[in-house]
Amino acid sequence: MLLCPLTAVSTFENLKRFSFFQPSGSRVGTACTTNKLALFSLCCGQRTAAVSPPGLLTDRSGTTSNEPGKSTIHTSEEMEGLLKAIQDLESSLGNAKNEAVRQHLQSACAVMRNAVEDHRGPVVDQLARLTALPEAIVSCRPPSVALSGSSAKEPSEGLSPLPPPLDGALAEEVKTWSFDIHKIAAAELPTLCFGVMMQHPAVTRVLPQLSLHRLWRFVQVVGSRYRDNPFHSFRHAVDVTLGISCLLRWLQEAQPTLLSDLQVVAALVAAMVHDTDHPGVMNNFLVATRHPLAVLYNQQSVLENHHIATAMALASRPELDWISPLPASEQAELRKVMIELVLATDPTTHMPFMKRFMEDVAAQTVTPMQAMAAMLKGADISNPTRPLSVYAVWVEGIMKEFFAQGDAERTLGLPISMNCDRESVNVNKCQVGFITFLVSPIWKGIAQLIPAQGPQLLAELETNLEHYKALAA
Ligand code: AMP
Ligand code: ZN
Repeated sequence: MLLCPLTAVSTFENLKRFSFFQPSGSRVGTACTTNKLALFSLCCGQRTAAVSPPGLLTDRSGTTSNEPGKSTIHTSEEMEGLLKAIQDLESSLGNAKNEAVRQHLQSACAVMRNAVEDHRGPVVDQLARLTALPEAIVSCRPPSVALSGSSAKEPSEGLSPLPPPLDGALAEEVKTWSFDIHKIAAAELPTLCFGVMMQHPAVTRVLPQLSLHRLWRFVQVVGSRYRDNPFHSFRHAVDVTLGISCLLRWLQEAQPTLLSDLQVVAALVAAMVHDTDHPGVMNNFLVATRHPLAVLYNQQSVLENHHIATAMALASRPELDWISPLPASEQAELRKVMIELVLATDPTTHMPFMKRFMEDVAAQTVTPMQAMAAMLKGADISNPTRPLSVYAVWVEGIMKEFFAQGDAERTLGLPISMNCDRESVNVNKCQVGFITFLVSPIWKGIAQLIPAQGPQLLAELETNLEHYKALAA
């Protein structure tokens, strides 16, 4: 379906009647309006995909990319009016009811803007626009391309011996929630990550020796695929792996039969790969710039699809294929669980997930899949539950990354995303909002699954919240 700008205008006029579009100050966002907007977003998305199929984006010399749009010419006043209306909608996003709704609305605005700009004038070379951006964004590509490139620093060929188990003191320290991942040298992170996986008896019960050797190489290669981002680095991936490792152990103590060995393995590896090749910008940025990854994945969970697809593509290299030595049914389940878990880290699915998860926690009917997804999502945003000295370093990293995205958006003339404007964002208030609306709710649910450790984790979170509240006051 092609969406002509006038259709967009009239759809947009209709959107104005929805409650979320009332002038700023009123309530923004309900499940219903989110759905309507998602539908609208879908219309725009289909149109965008229709004019820019993935192949065309890689052909910079092509003049055909916007052919379908050329048949409809509108006055520049109409176009400017529509852009202004989109801008008004964007400036009201701060009133969104929650982060998931806001991100939904923001993506919808981005596709509307793209729809208008396609009809505005001469063909815009999207890739040329991107080349002005930081290297990580420019070079981040779908796995089939990325895997044939030689830019990544990967360990040399040959069957490497397994690293020795973690030594006594470290082996105990990583089992505590106060562990400081920042003190580990970058070169030691793969060994630490693999060592923590190997602490789980499930790993050696499920994986034969050949798989373990390949998994060790896989950990190293995946590690080399992470970029040196201020937050989304391999250090974050290892932090999340250590986090889920503790949570899995505590859950197994509380409910020994809930998870199978295979599920434990899948959850540990999913944590390690969950942000593979992260370019340091959020999904909305990739959608707004029509990055090749956004086109490939039809604007749906773009980053999450990229992380798990890249990891799975790496795991299909013979020397890294730790999955194929397993029986076929186990291979299928491992892949399925890992894919589902990594896709579950998409923030836009957070609210529906939380609703169901909290209902099931209360009814004590949490499934293994829900428990693993909650633990991965919780570990992913666990930095505010750590000791303040550890947490504060992550805050510095994430804000640096957010602000770099804001700078790129400013360069491109795009609206600056929430929390990304270095000129106006209050870091302390940002942390108060993050803890209150995202971190606290999921951790309250997780805490009920691990009654022996939950209260202590929630207490640390509360202390950190008070700290940032005081700074924000
Ligand atoms: P992921 O991108 O998979 O790492 O998902 C976690 C997301 O949570 C990040 O992308 C950030 O947007 C957000 N996040 C994590 N830690 C913080 C923090 N301390 N402050 C604000 N946002 C955070
Ligand atoms: Zn993450």
